[in-house]
Amino acid sequence: MSADSQSDHGFDLFNPTEEHDALRRMVRDFVSSEVEPQAMASDREEKFNRELFRQLGELDLLGITVPDEAGGAGFDATAAVIAHEEISASDPGFALAYLAHSMLFVNNFYQNSNDEQRARWLPKSLNGDWVGGMCMSEPGVGTDVLGMTTKAERDGDNYIINGRKMWITNGGLEAGVSGDIFLVYAKTGGNRISSFIVEKDRPGFSLGEKIGDKLGCRSSFTAGLVFEDCVVPASNRLGEEGDSMMHMMANLEIERLTLAAMSLGIAKRCLQVMVRYASEREAFGQPINRFGQIQRYIGESYAKYAAARAYTYNTARMMSIGATGGRVDSDGCKLFAAQMGKEVADNAIQVLGGFGYVGEYVVERLWRDAKLIEIGGGTIEAHQKNITKDLTRSMEELLD
Ligand SMILES: Cc1cc2nc3c(=O)[nH]c(=O)nc-3n(C[C@H](O)[C@H](O)[C@H](O)COP(=O)(O)OP(=O)(O)OC[C@H]3O[C@@H](n4cnc5c(N)ncnc54)[C@H](O)[C@@H]3O)c2cc1C
Repeated sequence: MSADSQSDHGFDLFNPTEEHDALRRMVRDFVSSEVEPQAMASDREEKFNRELFRQLGELDLLGITVPDEAGGAGFDATAAVIAHEEISASDPGFALAYLAHSMLFVNNFYQNSNDEQRARWLPKSLNGDWVGGMCMSEPGVGTDVLGMTTKAERDGDNYIINGRKMWITNGGLEAGVSGDIFLVYAKTGGNRISSFIVEKDRPGFSLGEKIGDKLGCRSSFTAGLVFEDCVVPASNRLGEEGDSMMHMMANLEIERLTLAAMSLGIAKRCLQVMVRYASEREAFGQPINRFGQIQRYIGESYAKYAAARAYTYNTARMMSIGATGGRVDSDGCKLFAAQMGKEVADNAIQVLGGFGYVGEYVVERLWRDAKLIEIGGGTIEAHQKNITKDLTRSMEELLD
């Protein structure tokens, strides 16, 4: 056997099939013609772009992990990474709104719903008519999710939900207008967690405050939501009562993976900007990319970006949508990619000097956006805790 035939040189981890490659090109074209022109203004105005979101539905991106026969695109975790990476290279705030809808709401809903529920709620969630979100965090509880205080009590054929949720991406669409549909976690007895679909017109549901003046991801609408004797039919419950902790755990894996993908998009764009700038900008009679300290920013950024990218795509390759068991690596790649994205954006600003510190060169915005990935979907401390726990429990398997 020749050395060549034994090698994996033909395998492309980032575009494993022609369909993945075509998806990447399609999303990239959409990003350059539609997302990029509005990115700076949406950030400045803190505005979620509802029309642009609708176009994601036309491109079949909103149900990217939902099977074809259910109306989705029938793709895998790698495709979800591709879409988030490409959009985030231009507008991470918009990518976050896409993630909240397609991963936190649609994917989670599809995995845990029955046929009747899918027939009721999927079509408008896939075509872009509805914008959805997922409600886990509360004003007093984030990392310590079992401490949530929102409760759902059974009352005949209904449940009555009481509580407040906070930090909900797509919680609102514009001032005074809530998102359309939510997957809401609430306690149903002791520490047992159940999940419910709550549509915006349910009695007792209302939009609380817009969480404005965010550091970054300003083109997504983050809100508090209020549930005050909110009545939902028992048929809005997903799965069996008390079983949703498992739904949450499985969905957190794809959430963390696609958040890591957002950091990849941020880092790639920052690298493009700093490499170009360093070859054009001159100081002391030569391009600044001749200086060792500038080379260090570029070289370190590239190597860390490439490592995070390989880790994220390899984790995606191994992930089965809807299954648990991959937490150590979904946490691991978000832990690494989040810090990498922030560091690369910081390096880009440094390479650009004063020009990096203002909006025109984009890296200033990406630097602000990059920080979110260290907090949302689990803080980096939560990932460190989970990884230590998983390695301690399964050391022989994970560190073979
Ligand atoms: C822009 C944005 C969008 C978001 N979108 C959503 C959404 O759509 N849906 C949703 O449900 N939530 C959303 N969140 C909430 C996000 O998931 C939480 O902010 C996150 O889980 C952290 O929770 P917390 O903010 O309550 O911080 P806390 O949990 O109070 O943590 C505060 C600090 O304490 C540390 N800490 C806590 N426990 C431990 C521990 N055991 N060991 C070590 N350190 C610890 C944390 O790491 C952190 O540094 C969003 C947040 C932001 C900022």
